[in-house]
Amino acid sequence: MEHTIKGVSIELMRGDIASQEDISTVVNAANAELRIGGGVAGAIHRGAGPGLEEECRPLAPIRPGEAVITGAHNLPNKYVIHCLGPVYGVDKPEDKLLENCYRNALQLAEEYGIDSIAFPAISTGAFGFPLEPAAEVALHTVITEVKKLKSVKLIRFVLFSEKDLEMHKKVFHAIVGKSH
Ligand code: ADP
Repeated sequence: MEHTIKGVSIELMRGDIASQEDISTVVNAANAELRIGGGVAGAIHRGAGPGLEEECRPLAPIRPGEAVITGAHNLPNKYVIHCLGPVYGVDKPEDKLLENCYRNALQLAEEYGIDSIAFPAISTGAFGFPLEPAAEVALHTVITEVKKLKSVKLIRFVLFSEKDLEMHKKVFHAIVGKSH
């Protein structure tokens, strides 16, 4: 699914965040230590190779809502933006911290003149954020930020399961139907 808002293309698709060949920057649902882990962080670090952990070491630890940028090493991209999502029920307020992830990632992308960026559904795996409210925060934040973007022209959400994709589509249409 693809929809253009204020000249920025927003795509929702099913896939693997570590194999987005046509995208300049992928976002990692990182852990505070910026180490290899499970889920997205596992896929990204495996794809990037050990050079990524090495580059990450002096940048860690990061706080919930924070985003940092590195090279993409052996991934087919130029940069990785690492975001630490909130752990649901622990890092509060969860929705504000999750919103900060998306906003800070887009701001970094603008600073680096990045034209295309792919996000996973941050915090919805090991960190336990329920999918529907997480999708609402993610999509609402991105749609709100679109008007400030100059270099970013494509924002892709890469969802791991069909169920996750369908939920994001439903939430996207509810938001866009209301205000755009
Ligand atoms: P967090 O610790 O922020 O919750 P996870 O990596 O555990 O991050 O999960 C975030 C979301 O990403 C979950 O919905 C999970 O199903 C999904 N996911 C896991 N692996 C991948 C992948 N390779 N590509 C895209 N999404 C993935």
